[in-house]
Amino acid sequence: MRNLDLDTNATTADGPDQAYFIAAEQAVQSAVAAAMRELHPYLGPVGPSEFALTLERRIRGMIKLARSNNPPDFADPAPRRVFIDMDGVSVDFDGYRRAHGLTVDDIKATPGAYARMAPMPGAIEAIRALIEMGYEVWFAAKPATCTAHTYSDKASWVFEHVPELSHRIILTHNKGLLGGPNDTLIDDALDRAACEGFAGSIIEFNAAAGWDWPRIVHFLTP
Ligand SMILES: [Mg+2]
Repeated sequence: MRNLDLDTNATTADGPDQAYFIAAEQAVQSAVAAAMRELHPYLGPVGPSEFALTLERRIRGMIKLARSNNPPDFADPAPRRVFIDMDGVSVDFDGYRRAHGLTVDDIKATPGAYARMAPMPGAIEAIRALIEMGYEVWFAAKPATCTAHTYSDKASWVFEHVPELSHRIILTHNKGLLGGPNDTLIDDALDRAACEGFAGSIIEFNAAAGWDWPRIVHFLTP
């Protein structure tokens, strides 16, 4: 697992870092201003303010990552991808289990159960915020092995709750095969589905420890 954490208060700190952050801020402002001067006549249906905001976020994100322990590959032009687990992260598996008095095995054996679960608090809004920020978002979930209805029920949940990601569903027993160094995996069970093999950054979803959706969105905001 790699560490993507940054001291977000460092922008106000005194000392050697202050010069860096002043230079970084000037670089953001001048890069956005220069791009807008050149591109303004050609933006077409994309509003100048939305374009400038997206550009600014991208540049801030690159500067932020350049200071992290996990510098991105700037030669890779692909958008950064975020892979999101389902049960316990975007889907309220435990809430459904408790509400219906079921065991985990009961749920696995019940066709339709996974499709009927509610989203985790704030999950849908957070996923849409990440998409809005320009991340390429994918669901990455492990179905119950050899239980075919759990595969289709998980897909049905996405079709209903986040239909814009209907073409971004990965069902796998090995999340270590997904993504590259610039990508992020959000999961609540890092000891399962070979998460430890993920090449990028891993955010452990743990609402009790403060890593809930609002904090994750804040963390991933460039
Ligand atoms: Mg999970």
